[in-house]
Amino acid sequence: MKDTGWNFEATYVELRDTFYDRGPINPVDKPELVLLNEPLAETLGLDIDALKEDVALLSGNRQTDTSFSQAYAGHQFGNFTMLGDGRALVLGEHVTANGKRVDVQLKGSGPTEYSRGGDGRAAIGPMVREYLISEAMHALGIPTNRALAVVKTGEPVMRQGPKHGAVLTRVASSHIRVGTFQYAAGSIDDVTALADYAIHRHDSDLEGRPDRYEEFLGRVIERQAKLIADWQLVGFIHGVMNTDNTFISGEGLDYGPCAFMDSYHPHTVFSSIDREGRYAYANQPYIGSWNLARLAETLLPLLADTQEAAVDIANKLLNDYTETYKQAYFTGLAHKIGLYVRKDEDDALTDELLRLMMETEADFTNTFRALTLGETESLPFASRDDGKAWLSAWRKRLAEQALPDEDVTRLMRQHNPAVIPRNHHVESAIMAAERGDFGPTTALLDVLRQPYDYEADYGRYVSPGPERTYPYQTFCGT
Ligand code: AMP
Ligand code: MG
Repeated sequence: MKDTGWNFEATYVELRDTFYDRGPINPVDKPELVLLNEPLAETLGLDIDALKEDVALLSGNRQTDTSFSQAYAGHQFGNFTMLGDGRALVLGEHVTANGKRVDVQLKGSGPTEYSRGGDGRAAIGPMVREYLISEAMHALGIPTNRALAVVKTGEPVMRQGPKHGAVLTRVASSHIRVGTFQYAAGSIDDVTALADYAIHRHDSDLEGRPDRYEEFLGRVIERQAKLIADWQLVGFIHGVMNTDNTFISGEGLDYGPCAFMDSYHPHTVFSSIDREGRYAYANQPYIGSWNLARLAETLLPLLADTQEAAVDIANKLLNDYTETYKQAYFTGLAHKIGLYVRKDEDDALTDELLRLMMETEADFTNTFRALTLGETESLPFASRDDGKAWLSAWRKRLAEQALPDEDVTRLMRQHNPAVIPRNHHVESAIMAAERGDFGPTTALLDVLRQPYDYEADYGRYVSPGPERTYPYQTFCGT
């Protein structure tokens, strides 16, 4: 067999063995490769043909000597629970030719010590969803883990009825979560070891500095604030922003009951289990800071000699979250309407636009797309008095910049995707995949890989779904 080019290590298992489990693998019956992310494989330095032949690895049928499942805890919808990789296995940390270290993880690879009675498996539909959304995120320029492959297991899994089983291979810069710190929090030695490991992995320039833990917390806070601003700016609702789904790397993950909103409304919720709207669109920035406060709590003993001093440091950093978030969000909004340098008054202008969008149930993505294309007459608020007033205030503000139109258009094109994964297209791709047809998934991926290409003809992919499919709901039973 040809060499795939994997270069696996397992530095994580140098942590105390309470952090992981190295149980046996759970081979499946008839693994069949159905999706392979060739561009990603290439950036990882892998041989595509060899990868295609090595379905045993991508299905969890072949053991690597670097594999492990991770222990973690987490606040799920606000409730603290001991968790861990109940259906995931890190095959190893792949080190690329230029020295970049990434975790390669199977999801749906069978039960582990952390399965808590679950079957450890995954169904094809949700794995295709995760593949589509993570690749869309990446193409949008938003930090995310990536999907490398989907393999059908040839075995059924029981969800609401029998479904085809599948294993997703994911790639992340690490799988260390806020919940991993919560898991370690009972022991100062464990938290210190985990923090040192995380710093080595993600912020190695801080190593050896006396203020490294404080700086590290500040970095995680900054990365999360920017990530969530990015989500808000494309109308993305994650749906399960639990602390175990919050990476300290600042990459997004676990695209389960998530969706991009069509009509703009700040209270939009998609997840069927989020009955109180904890993770509604407008709540995401606040939930981000709530999750980071849980991380800060675990790091308190490392921040200062007294509890009081440590709390002061943590509070200051958590306040920085709000500042960083607002800066990223409002600057991003200004860019979306073509303003290079955001002034304080611009926030009122963008707020008013959002209010108009909410009142007229304007499509989030297509409103900014129409503004970018100069197709303002198509906007649902174009003929209202307040709509006209907004458009003229906007034009006046643009004129003040005294920049050539091409420059304004270029900025807007860079910040307003022409296409996003529309819920109805994601659903029909998933339904086809469940029947064994991956054509619609591949076609959708082709479109989602170039979201800022205004020259392309995206045709039907830009329209929101037919009204009757609403309210759109996504489900957690994955
Ligand atoms: P998730 O919603 O994917 O973030 O999963 C939350 C937690 O539940 C994680 O600890 C998962 O490993 C675990 N989990 C989800 N589905 C299963 C399953 N089918 N079998 C075992 N554990 C699972
Ligand atoms: Mg998770």
